[in-house]
Amino acid sequence: MGINVALDGPSGAGKSTIAKKIAARLGYIYVDTGALYRSVAYYTVSQGISPDDSKKVIAALEGCKVGLEYREGSQCVIVNGEDVSGKIRTPEISMAASKVSAIPEVRSFLFDLQKDIAAKNDIIMDGRDIGTVVLPDAQVKIFLTASAEERANRRFKELQEKGDPSTYEEVLADINQRDYNDTHRETAPLKKAEDAIEVDSTSMTLEEVVSHIAGIITEKTGAAPVKVKKEKKERKPLLDFSGVEPVKRGKKLNPVKMFFYTILRYMVLGGFKIAYNLKFEGKENVPKDGSNIFASNHRGYVDPVFISLACRVPNTFMAKEELFHSKKFFVWIIKKFGAFPVERGKGDMQAINTSFEKLNSGRNLVIFPEGTRSHDGKVGRGKTGVALIAAVAQCPVIPVGINYQGEKLKFRKKVVIRFGKPISPEQLKITTPGAKELKLLRTTIMDAIVDLVH
Ligand code: C5P
Repeated sequence: MGINVALDGPSGAGKSTIAKKIAARLGYIYVDTGALYRSVAYYTVSQGISPDDSKKVIAALEGCKVGLEYREGSQCVIVNGEDVSGKIRTPEISMAASKVSAIPEVRSFLFDLQKDIAAKNDIIMDGRDIGTVVLPDAQVKIFLTASAEERANRRFKELQEKGDPSTYEEVLADINQRDYNDTHRETAPLKKAEDAIEVDSTSMTLEEVVSHIAGIITEKTGAAPVKVKKEKKERKPLLDFSGVEPVKRGKKLNPVKMFFYTILRYMVLGGFKIAYNLKFEGKENVPKDGSNIFASNHRGYVDPVFISLACRVPNTFMAKEELFHSKKFFVWIIKKFGAFPVERGKGDMQAINTSFEKLNSGRNLVIFPEGTRSHDGKVGRGKTGVALIAAVAQCPVIPVGINYQGEKLKFRKKVVIRFGKPISPEQLKITTPGAKELKLLRTTIMDAIVDLVH
């Protein structure tokens, strides 16, 4: 057996951030067992099974193969061959994981995997029952806590940065509920092992907690911190677009579908005019035909509808992947409105290919280059994806400014949607899609948007 460090504690105590840093300092492997429960939750939810229905969850385990892989020092969870690491971090999956983890069969299903990896490596493993059940013989056991309010506060900030709409109160209620579930389940409830050292991080900084715990580990095991060689950052290759043709514009959409779409559009427009004090400016800049890219600032979930109401041709739009794990009805609605998923910040080729398909079919494409909603109305820097798509597709880019006061849309609130002069395909041409050129083009597009936000 290598050196085993068990790090337990309630949700949001910062276990994973701290364990990762300590693992890097001491040269251990970090094992995030929460991710294993999350992946089972993700699998059952994706099979349409409620996490409350333990019988069906247990039956589903047979078709669920969970594995761990380490890539560039980071843990990836693989379910039936698919890397789900990015998909298991939504509030919905957090709650589902909390529920499925109370099922004894789920716990024993994941038990051997955790034992195996601990037997073969020096590890720091975080979870709820590591010191009590999974690794009762671990050389070091830490129980990391913080007050529920402090934990909610930290999680709330994290979610806000990701653009998640949850309020602080919702996050706190969620933490309290998960604490209750974790401590009241019959099998392997969250509790401090008798020989664990308790660390309360409520009024400590991250670095203080890391140093304190690393100190305990070195003292107990005699392990010296290793000098971690900084891995050379692999330069991400630019996406290969050599074989991709520019979009063939001018494709006409089915006239019958267009007829019904136009009726629907005017009906929704009527409703919106009543609900909001809605004004369009620069509508003459909106092309009458399709295959255009609308690049807009992002204020709220209704933005795609606001833009679509001014366009004759139906729009499609990229929406962050996490939204497609929301309630089924919501997902159905956004798909009907032309949404398709994009994994942000990852050069998601599938989303880029879908964009080209939609543009080639004669529909418009709406992109929110900031990637996340702005709460204070300020326009962010924007990602380069928009520049890449525009440069390769060679479709006009129409900048859009969505304007209203305050953070939230309210009944009868004044909403102004401004459309700027299209940026022509000639202006979008770049000789080689190098990072520098893309950044420049991104800036041109973002500047045009900023001009429309006031
Ligand atoms: O740590 P994380 O929040 O990612 O864990 C997700 C859920 O999995 C938790 O709410 C907890 O109920 C459960 N869990 C568990 N035992 C572990 C790790 C996580 O029950 N060892």
